[in-house]
Amino acid sequence: MVTVKSPAQIEAMRRAGSILRDTLDLLVESVQVGMSTHDLDMIARDFIKKQHAVPSFLNYDGFPGAVCTSIDEEVVHGIPSKHRVLQDGMLLKLDCGAGIDGVHSDAARTVCVGHVSEEKRRLAEVCKQSFFEGMKVLKDGTRLGNLGYAIQSYVEKNGFSVVRALVGHGIGTRVHEDPNVPNYGIEGRGARLFKNMTIAVEPMINIGTYEVECLDDGWTIVTADGKPSAHYENTVVITESGVEILTL
Ligand code: MG
Ligand code: MG
Repeated sequence: MVTVKSPAQIEAMRRAGSILRDTLDLLVESVQVGMSTHDLDMIARDFIKKQHAVPSFLNYDGFPGAVCTSIDEEVVHGIPSKHRVLQDGMLLKLDCGAGIDGVHSDAARTVCVGHVSEEKRRLAEVCKQSFFEGMKVLKDGTRLGNLGYAIQSYVEKNGFSVVRALVGHGIGTRVHEDPNVPNYGIEGRGARLFKNMTIAVEPMINIGTYEVECLDDGWTIVTADGKPSAHYENTVVITESGVEILTL
């Protein structure tokens, strides 16, 4: 069921969003060669706890971390580990959630670890910009197909592909709510989004094929061809004339 949020819920989501923004800023600043993805998870847990918020992803469907840490060909849902050590040239995706006063926020960043290849750097930049291309068309009454088309056409124009198997989503009292928010689509198609709906828009884009697979750990999603992937996400509230981004 798609829900429109009350002013009080939106205000609480602003708090959840600003805590998550600060968490991701801290994580991005903390990234350095030689640290493990477990170290990043501990930083996220400690910081979120200090804000009197909860890490929304921890134990979500049994996920064992507060932050998803996915590297290179890993698209999303990578599990933090003491054995996964950051190395120069890696493309790291950090996806995190924070909850407070009964509502949640969800956002992701792609970080270049040390000196990354020009192609990986461009992949990360195009991914981030594709989110903002989507924001240009999003307002009260926008169809999901128009949002997806704006993201997809920008990504493909730049020579990359859009993951189909995973999509954005509504968010609020639960991390994942209706509707599904694809990063691909056809203009003029799909359900309309209305003022005071809150959604997570999250393009996941690949250098090669858009096909993905799940590893045997039951969580980590990887590209089918082993080529790198990037991810960028924010939680937004739809307004009369545009959007308010809650996690930036
Ligand atoms: Mg996320
Ligand atoms: Mg999400």
